[in-house]
Amino acid sequence: MHETMVAENILRAIVEQAEKIGTRPLSAVISCGQFNTLNDEIMQFAFDAAAAGTVCEGMTLKIKHIPLRATCRQCKLMFEFDLYNPHCPGCRREEFDFEPDAPLLLEEIEFEEPK
Ligand SMILES: [Zn+2]
Repeated sequence: MHETMVAENILRAIVEQAEKIGTRPLSAVISCGQFNTLNDEIMQFAFDAAAAGTVCEGMTLKIKHIPLRATCRQCKLMFEFDLYNPHCPGCRREEFDFEPDAPLLLEEIEFEEPK
């Protein structure tokens, strides 16, 4: 499962940061594109499992889904591509050039106030 691997990588990165700062992480924001998209619930579940017994236990993840942008080859319109409705909103054709998909990123970690 894709989410399990991502959860483990993200956990490792957060633990490293937390050790550097010496405080507990509370939540984190992850962003992902459309081709490497994450399921929010599976991701939180996988993260909880990986984080059990670590400084990250009980953290909340927020996942930002970044839309994929495409340009229509026919009318040159740039639009946010919808996987479930793969037509150009301008001319309804189905030939596009895609912008690079957003990478999977750990954007932000919120830490507990140091005591
Ligand atoms: Zn078009």
